[in-house]
Amino acid sequence: MPWREIQRTNFRKLSCLAAFLELDPKALSQNPRFSLNLPKRLAKKMAKQTLQDPLVRQFVPLPEEEKVIPGYSLDPVQDASFCKASKLLQKYEGRALLLTNSACAMHCRYCFRQNFDYAPNLEYTEEIALIQKDPSLQEVILSGGDPLSLSDRILKQLLDSLSAIPHIKLIRFHTRFPIGIPERIDSSFLHLLENCPKQIVFVIHANHPNEFDSDVFAALKSVQKLGIPVLLQSILLKDINDDFLTLKHLFENSAYNGIIPYYLHQLDRVSGAAHFDVPIERGKMLIEKLRKSLPGYAVPHYVQEVPGEKSKTLIAL
Ligand code: SF4
Repeated sequence: MPWREIQRTNFRKLSCLAAFLELDPKALSQNPRFSLNLPKRLAKKMAKQTLQDPLVRQFVPLPEEEKVIPGYSLDPVQDASFCKASKLLQKYEGRALLLTNSACAMHCRYCFRQNFDYAPNLEYTEEIALIQKDPSLQEVILSGGDPLSLSDRILKQLLDSLSAIPHIKLIRFHTRFPIGIPERIDSSFLHLLENCPKQIVFVIHANHPNEFDSDVFAALKSVQKLGIPVLLQSILLKDINDDFLTLKHLFENSAYNGIIPYYLHQLDRVSGAAHFDVPIERGKMLIEKLRKSLPGYAVPHYVQEVPGEKSKTLIAL
């Protein structure tokens, strides 16, 4: 089935998902601010009749989200203050982030950008002009939302426009799509990547080994075969991956499939996500243990985003 059609079958109604997972609908958040959006393939991986499953906790709105906790805010990384245009963010030297669109394959309950005021259109003229005018930029990160939510036609226009800018050397995709709908990596998309004259880098996002399977790895392998490095970023999440064995399996599986663990992020304190927070000391202890058990290239940098800093803040190498 084409990926757009698969996407249309996503769970978007809490009552339908509760019935599928054999849960009491009253056990879920009744009116979540960030809507439910869950691909069927992820729902099928969830254990039924429990809220403790690591994928349930990541994607199903739970009542904990409704708690108001001091220190948690709508825009914890202060994206709004780094906007150069409605869809262009620049935080770090040499790189700019294009917020291509608001849509995602799935809605992750801890997403720090869930409240971002996305522009309603898919016009990038102003953003491309700003990138063109700034020769200090060498890299553009296509983010969102998820850039793979865009049609291949729009993506091609974007890649063509960026490729025409001589000082842009690298185009990076930040995407979680292959985890939810690996069918997105189809022949038409691969053709598009293959014909892009600039170096492309893929950074995927996964937090638990259950998110991976042979379809996900096969889709990413077809990207790797084009000479495109695929990196992994993860978030340290309470009761999901804050234990040694889960992280070990996540990074090991990733590395065995040629996907290099890049960052393990400390949670960005977005409203409604306090129940995912893991103390930094625990994160450090876990990284220390992983370093003793895995090769160096399979242990990601443990980092935190501190608004205004010139790069991600390294908590542990
Ligand atoms: S896929 Fe990424 S951008 Fe979309 S909700 Fe999840 S974390 Fe946020």
